[in-house]
Amino acid sequence: MTTEKQTIAIIGAGLGGAAAGALLQSAGFDVKIFEQAPSFTRLGAGIHMGPNVLKIFQRIGMDQKLIDISSTPSHWFSRNGMTGEYLSRIPLEGYGATYCTVHRGDLSALQMDTMAPGTVEFNKRLTRLEDNGSDVYLEFQDGTSTRAAIVIGADGINSRVRETLLGAERPNYSGWVGHRAMISAEKLKKFDLTFEDCVKWWGPDRHMMVYYTTSRRDEYYYVTGVPHAAWEFDGAFVQSSREEMFAAFAGYHPVIQALIEATDEVTKWPLFNRNPLPLWSQGRMVLLGDACHPMKPHMAQGAAMAIEDAAMLTRCLQETGPNAYSAAFALYEANRRERATRVQTVSNANTFLLTQEDPSWVYGYDVYAEPLQDKSVA
Ligand code: FAD
Repeated sequence: MTTEKQTIAIIGAGLGGAAAGALLQSAGFDVKIFEQAPSFTRLGAGIHMGPNVLKIFQRIGMDQKLIDISSTPSHWFSRNGMTGEYLSRIPLEGYGATYCTVHRGDLSALQMDTMAPGTVEFNKRLTRLEDNGSDVYLEFQDGTSTRAAIVIGADGINSRVRETLLGAERPNYSGWVGHRAMISAEKLKKFDLTFEDCVKWWGPDRHMMVYYTTSRRDEYYYVTGVPHAAWEFDGAFVQSSREEMFAAFAGYHPVIQALIEATDEVTKWPLFNRNPLPLWSQGRMVLLGDACHPMKPHMAQGAAMAIEDAAMLTRCLQETGPNAYSAAFALYEANRRERATRVQTVSNANTFLLTQEDPSWVYGYDVYAEPLQDKSVA
């Protein structure tokens, strides 16, 4: 057993935990990340990283590397899923940084490189943690244990850290699933159709979001939102099929039919969420990202909120110093709760960018430019 009283332990090396690791490390903190997965894997899915996130990646020298490998759409188009009529054309430029769409695995790989070697320990599934007032004791499934001065729960929607703070409670199944498929752009060449950089096709009760995930535009990706009464499977996802997709999008636009025809493999993910939590921290433990405010993914801002959390938490710990962690956590929540809850609410409602609205409140946000509110707690 190691005794590392001043170490900040982060549980989970997802997009939020890895951002927290890099940002805290670059601010001079001693950080360890404990991740349950046996190793790093390239998950088959895409992700949007908006200008609000790129401004954070600038701080850890990752923004240009991400831009180099991403597709950088100039607009988000919303279109009627049946007729193709344009419902909105939202500019994605002019918010102070670039808008990227990218492969999640490639994004994660870049994030791993922003941390000192050995920062992330894999195969460390946290099973128990106990704040004894002077530090936190952490126990892992492999029988090992450690201690840390502060624990950041970045362990996702089924967070063990959240459970320790607030008790066991299953997340709410939203009644929706998301299908995800990565398509080789080569397969789209045979269609006499235009495949736009970033487009959301809207039906009355379902949608399909589509975009490229590489700068070479050789991978095209779709993710849906489709009503699905009950989730009766174990595990994070199940296999879906072309047949299921054709049935779900029968009568939809020829571009959608072509995408389904070009699909080799498609998976189906339940969409869960939680109501806003009554607290974000207690004692030496604090939550961020999906552990704290999971949402339906329809604004493409869930990971962005996790990364903004990581940046604001780092900023608050710098402001107060790590020994005044209670003040730092209070400051962090005071500066994050309203925004994260607003994004959670709009994302769950699935209305974002359906009509010609101004998304500056999301993309124009700069976590470093905002004056810190509620300084009195510091
Ligand atoms: P996670 O990414 O869930 O990471 C948690 C990590 O903790 C994992 O690595 C996990 O293995 C680890 N862990 C869990 N329990 C333990 C334990 N006990 N011990 C140790 N490690 C543990 N967001 C966007 O910003 N843009 C998008 O385009 C977008 N698209 C999405 C599409 C879909 C279909 C879905 C479902 C979500 C989408 N999101 C998107 C949301 C985004 O994926 C999440 O909000 C984001 O991954 C949350 O990051 P996180 O780091 O908080 O949690």
